[in-house]
Amino acid sequence: MSYAIIKVPENGGKVSIKDGKLQVPNNPILPFIEGDGTGRDIWRASVRVFDAAVEKAYGGKRKVHWMEVYAGEKAYDMVNEWLPEETVEAFREFLVGIKGPLTTPIGGGIRSLNVALRKYLDLYVCLRPVQYIDGVPSPVKRPEDVDMVIFRENTEDIYAGAEFELGTQESEDFRAMLKEQFPNQYAKLRFPDTSGISIKPVSKEGTERLVRAAIQWALDNNRKGVSLVHKGNIMKFTEGAFRGWGYDLATREFRNDIVTERETWILGNKEANPDLTVEENARMIDPGFGMMAPDTQQEILDEVEAALGLWETHGDGQWKDKLRIKDTIADIVFQQTITRAKEFDVLATMNLNGDYLSDALAAQIGGMGIAPGANINYETGAAIFEATHGTAPKYADQDKVNPGSVILSGEMMFRYMGWHEAADLILNGMREAVKAETVTYDFHRLMDNATLLKCSEFGDAIIQYMEE
Ligand code: NAP
Repeated sequence: MSYAIIKVPENGGKVSIKDGKLQVPNNPILPFIEGDGTGRDIWRASVRVFDAAVEKAYGGKRKVHWMEVYAGEKAYDMVNEWLPEETVEAFREFLVGIKGPLTTPIGGGIRSLNVALRKYLDLYVCLRPVQYIDGVPSPVKRPEDVDMVIFRENTEDIYAGAEFELGTQESEDFRAMLKEQFPNQYAKLRFPDTSGISIKPVSKEGTERLVRAAIQWALDNNRKGVSLVHKGNIMKFTEGAFRGWGYDLATREFRNDIVTERETWILGNKEANPDLTVEENARMIDPGFGMMAPDTQQEILDEVEAALGLWETHGDGQWKDKLRIKDTIADIVFQQTITRAKEFDVLATMNLNGDYLSDALAAQIGGMGIAPGANINYETGAAIFEATHGTAPKYADQDKVNPGSVILSGEMMFRYMGWHEAADLILNGMREAVKAETVTYDFHRLMDNATLLKCSEFGDAIIQYMEE
């Protein structure tokens, strides 16, 4: 493809995907969006860290050929567009890239450039690791207990944008249709004449590909469990369905590698007491069994039988080595990820829950200045790694803010590409720089005797500490 404003580096090869495996040449061309506001400062510091890590790790055998692509204010100044089509095309063609924060244009047009990029490239996983770096100031008592990875569904849920604004003809028509054709649903609207309405689609396909990615990632990375986070007790046919489809997918596609939490109870009960009958086991896992309707009781008896049918592969304690699949309600998860952080590992959830949860958990490990993120489609291989914070415009061009979020996003990117040695160097450099208490203003103001560094100086410190 030929580009109008993007200059494709003369040297370098393309990342591609073959049989579901990413193919990364030693000299990949990687597109980057510098980002608006503080994005400029951050990118300058980050790219030096990336190049230094690759050089140190591979001594010239591998090298990234960076290719600037444009979005946000820079693109608008150049071609009067916030997100030129060729930027999306470049990410599609070169597959893996990285971006800084972008201004969300106010007043019409694209609602969010980030959301648009995710949508055009169908980047259905928003991956947000939440891991503590020793020494980072944290508001919780034991931040070292926090080591979680959030898989947030990125393309549907209430974020689909299927909305009806009060006062518009569309809204009138929609409510008239609802009143006429679905009177029972219409009757549930508390103030139907003055309501804005939004549609919340949660699909089986969307759920399955997200949960599949989370489980596969957990298995590949030797994690202990995946929690399906939902509000299915209230929204039964969307969030509740997510839970059901998630468990179905887990037991259908990963049967030998996983065990559900309820299966662990059933198998554990039987191991503790081999003479236990199916009904006694059912009464132990569901203490309300005696009061249930006969149909529900039968379902639980069937569930116990099915779990005991796994004895050969899961019984006699074998289940303890399997990936544990459980589910948890979205409200309590906010409390428990603080009070019992150790019990959570990989979290798979829908768009809105995931949005809140990612930022809330990031607070425990030092906030947005340091939280990395990625948007990935595991089938096409397309992935954009990105800062999770905004453009922080009041600090733009002051060489002041923390570049950690983009730098750790780069660490994730190298890991995704299989360049683990470069990723390890970046992580190590960051850990050591923080341990030496050489930090940017956001950490400095929360620490007692730290040395204040500029954005670029923090990048230098990471490079300096990489091999220590
Ligand atoms: P923001 O840019 O994230 O900034 C909010 C505050 O977070 C800053 O004032 C600063 O706190 C802290 N912060 C952000 N980045 C930091 C960094 N690198 N290092 C240290 N501290 C950092 O949020 P906003 O002001 O609400 O949004 C500004 C613009 O960014 C908007 O146009 C918004 O649409 C856009 N945005 C873009 C993205 C994205 O591209 N992914 C995400 C969110 C928002 P202190 O003031 O306490 O120092």
